Amino acid sequence: MMMLTKKMIEIRGLLQTVGQSESLTLPSIVVIGSQSSGKSSVLEAIVGHEFLPKGSNMVTRRPIELTLINTPDAHAEYGEFPALGLGKITDFSQVQRTLTDLNLAVPARDCVTDDPIQLRIYSPNVPDLSLIDLPGYIQVTGRDQPVELKEKISELCEKYIKPPNVILAISAADVDLANSTALRASRKVDPRGERTIGVITKMDLVDPERGASLLSDKKYALRLGYVGVVCRVPSTTSTPKLFNRGSGNITNAIAKNENAYFSSHAEFSPDSHLSVGTKNLRKKLMHVLEQTMAASLKTTSEAIQRELAEATYEYKVQYNERPLSAESYLAESLDAFKHAFRSFSEQFGRQQVRELLKHELDQQVMNLLAQRYWNRPFDDLSVPLPESDPLSGLMKADPEGENQIWQIKLDSSSAALTKLGVGRLATSVVANALQAHIDRLISNSRFSAHPFARQAITEASTSILRDLSYDISDELEICIKPYKYRIEVEDNEWAKGRENVTNVLKEELKVCESAVKKLEEHVGGRKKVRDVTAFIDRVRSGQVVLEGDGIGGAGGFSAALLKKGREAVFLRDRVEVLKMRLLAVKSKQCANKKNKYHCPEVFLDAVADKLTTTADLFLDAELLSKFYYIFPRELDARLGRSLSQNEVERFAREDPKIRRHLDVVRRKDLLEHVLKEMESLRQLEAREKRYGARK
Ligand code: GDP
Repeated sequence: MMMLTKKMIEIRGLLQTVGQSESLTLPSIVVIGSQSSGKSSVLEAIVGHEFLPKGSNMVTRRPIELTLINTPDAHAEYGEFPALGLGKITDFSQVQRTLTDLNLAVPARDCVTDDPIQLRIYSPNVPDLSLIDLPGYIQVTGRDQPVELKEKISELCEKYIKPPNVILAISAADVDLANSTALRASRKVDPRGERTIGVITKMDLVDPERGASLLSDKKYALRLGYVGVVCRVPSTTSTPKLFNRGSGNITNAIAKNENAYFSSHAEFSPDSHLSVGTKNLRKKLMHVLEQTMAASLKTTSEAIQRELAEATYEYKVQYNERPLSAESYLAESLDAFKHAFRSFSEQFGRQQVRELLKHELDQQVMNLLAQRYWNRPFDDLSVPLPESDPLSGLMKADPEGENQIWQIKLDSSSAALTKLGVGRLATSVVANALQAHIDRLISNSRFSAHPFARQAITEASTSILRDLSYDISDELEICIKPYKYRIEVEDNEWAKGRENVTNVLKEELKVCESAVKKLEEHVGGRKKVRDVTAFIDRVRSGQVVLEGDGIGGAGGFSAALLKKGREAVFLRDRVEVLKMRLLAVKSKQCANKKNKYHCPEVFLDAVADKLTTTADLFLDAELLSKFYYIFPRELDARLGRSLSQNEVERFAREDPKIRRHLDVVRRKDLLEHVLKEMESLRQLEAREKRYGARK
């Protein structure tokens, strides 16, 4: 018979994890009683340990679903909170503290909640039982307790004492049974006393005669009867209270005390047929629970079948019977991501790196040209045009390079380019591009719906790129070192540079022209721009002398308009320069590398090209290949092996769609499992019946 209860309690536990529906459970014993009736003492006497929250103002605010599991071959006794994952707790004062914390976590304004705390206790000394401890009924609300507390506790208890649960109604012997809140509540839902066990505590506080009469109460006759107990642990000097109630098992101490009391009074002799003592109470509870559970097996199993049919239907219709587990989901997502990454890596190679770098260096060349050749001061209205316009000078420079200034200018410009920090610049341009591609791959992958995975992948790539870049930029700088001293440009390189820079200049020209258009639109028309630029030109050429600094506006133009005007002048000059330089680059003179001092654009482009070639080769080998090798492995490490079952589960459930799918699969699997267990229970029951019949 023992096996049956164990199995049923196991099934009850499984059903708890399925959750939801009220019909989807097996009955339990619900313990009710008013405060101080001795309810906790009874439960602790059954368990053999003090583990329930105490304290004058301590009201149990949540039901405790207490599952006792008899472990005949084990020595250790321990508690477990399955929902908290705290592991085995062998120190029962720790169980008590945890229960206290869980109760206190319920906000005072909620008074009580019906969200149960699940606690399992494993011990060779406990019977297999399933009990639900409810908040004790209170007679009067305390000063610091909400007024509706009393009402709320009653409601909560009412919910639990519904059939088919067994009611364990606790009343103290020293209180008139007619006033017992527990019995009154039970009578409401079980008027014929068919599923209520009465427990009379504190039998030692009334005289034995009266005690005996309570146990044979006829006013509220209970089919399952009354049991009288003395659950207070005696505190004698030889067995200090602290030791008894704190760490050791109290079962024996209580039994000894009860025996001493009941056997010393003839009223409770075996002839009286009264049921007394915690030991008898335990036996009764086991017997009644088993009977009750067995009686509801059929209805419960029907309920499970109904739920299973629903879950199966949903699985079929919504998910096309596609199997799914958190692990398989993660593995598939990871594979898909790595696949996408592989295709990306096949498309992003040396050529792409080269384009990126060349574009970056083109911009650097344009900046250098502007700084060293094209710009003239434009930010100060009072500065007149330079006497010798560098550009007109450049145009007129004599082919033999007589004018040393152009030689120095070009040498220093090319040195500025090679000493720019190309190692760091090129490495970071490519690393940033890789990171941007990874971000794009994430956004286009399943991981986009998973903040946790997004972060893990981003961290993986940034940390790899950071580590690689550190050494690579230094090494690359060393590779380009020779160019810092001497640069030879071949004819074909010159021709290529000329062609490329023509395009770059054209592109730049387009950018400037469109900026001019934008500015005109912004200011409110071409004419307005012409007026203000004409004024600025007059100031610059000294035809107009400004009074003051012109900051607050001048010549009838506002300061803001003057600012725009200066921009317009700058852009106009830039357009002019670009057009002129385009002509120069295309001219015969620039076709020959001998004239490099006249054609700094072409020469600098050729230098940039050389730098690019060195950098792309190096970065392809050092950054790309290494990244392409390490990154997928790092992904495996961060999202594969190192994740715990819980983390994998949390990951998959981040996506609401996947969460629903997983829930259906899980529910279906669990229900199928429970049904199988029910079937084996049925067989066990049949076997026990046959065995019983043979005996
Ligand atoms: P609860 O509020 O219903 O959980 O009641 P407790 O179990 O905390 O008991 C209330 C008080 O009654 C405590 O001081 C217990 O020591 C005491 N008590 C419990 N059972 C007995 C008993 O059988 N005999 C005596 N004399 N006192 C008891």
